Amino acid sequence: MKYSTFPVQKITKSKLSSVNFDDLKFGRDFSDHMLLVEYKNGAWETPQILPYQPLEFSPAASVFHYGQAIFEGLKAHKNEAGEIFVFRADENLKRLNSSATRMCMPHIPKGIFLDGLKQLIELDREWIPVGPGMSLYLRPFMVADDPFLGVKPSGSYKFMIITSPSASYYTGAVKVKIETHYSRAAVGGIGAAKAAGNYAASLLPAKKAQEEGFDQLIWTDAQSHEFIEESGTMNLMIVKGNTLLTPPLEGKTILPGITRKSILQLAEEWGYEVIERRISVNELTEGIEDHSIDEVFGVGTAATIAPIAAIGFEEKLLKLTDFTQWKFSTKVKQYLEDLKTGKIADTHNWIEVL
Ligand SMILES: *Cc1c(COP(=O)(O)O)cnc(C)c1O
Repeated sequence: MKYSTFPVQKITKSKLSSVNFDDLKFGRDFSDHMLLVEYKNGAWETPQILPYQPLEFSPAASVFHYGQAIFEGLKAHKNEAGEIFVFRADENLKRLNSSATRMCMPHIPKGIFLDGLKQLIELDREWIPVGPGMSLYLRPFMVADDPFLGVKPSGSYKFMIITSPSASYYTGAVKVKIETHYSRAAVGGIGAAKAAGNYAASLLPAKKAQEEGFDQLIWTDAQSHEFIEESGTMNLMIVKGNTLLTPPLEGKTILPGITRKSILQLAEEWGYEVIERRISVNELTEGIEDHSIDEVFGVGTAATIAPIAAIGFEEKLLKLTDFTQWKFSTKVKQYLEDLKTGKIADTHNWIEVL
């Protein structure tokens, strides 16, 4: 073992044989074990690895009332030889702790997050599916646990990691609608934190878009609705010739994606001009109409790349070209997938092999 280990209470009978690995969805099945650690009196207690199970909470637990809850999402991949690969988990820890700061929650020490994650993955290594697009999805999260209805930062928390064998999230290209009424995040709000409440607020707009025949939304800025921000729960990128464009993080209304960060770095290394700046709805729609925009896609851990096939704006439906012909997004998707499954050399030191 290359790291510290925590007390383990093993399952008595694995659920593995009850899961159909040929019909995995995203986030539906859960592996045998989970990690749990409690924060009390200003300190984290010893983490425990337990059988996956329901937990006991006070009905007054503040997470249920005021939503002090944050999460992360990352994946472990396994190759035919049984080697396990984890992509940039240190970045997930950094982001979890910056979400924690914004939500008045305690930071998680590296020794709990990274060591706990690795121990859990190794214990449930049989749960990692092998095959194209398949992975063990890892979901670390933290919730406020004080049984108290006063509005204040909780004094006690639970941090947990659960894991879920999953097939890929999206298939094919998506049809999205530019949302100009609702917004995901406002300046000064919690858009840059991976906070549960951001997702709750997005459900109604997403549902309405689905009723209109769209798969997802392109969020615009809350103030003017003139600038594009993210696509659903992914960061948004545009390729125009040799230029890669994406909205900037400065306003803190955009979630700082690890896929986003990695792709920007790769694009630069591959000789693309990388520009982080505001992109107006007009620039996007006109660029599609006059064919100066070549590719538009979402980026995130769940799907890596989600190419956009068509964009609805007001009464128009703007169609993009066939994404299978797109040069940059096809290349970067393949590169990241090969990297995350150990098929190519990890020249950036982004991968941990277990
Ligand atoms: C998690 C998330 C992303 C993508 O981040 P990755 O680290 O690349 O998975 C983008 N936008 C939102 C709103 C998110 O919650």
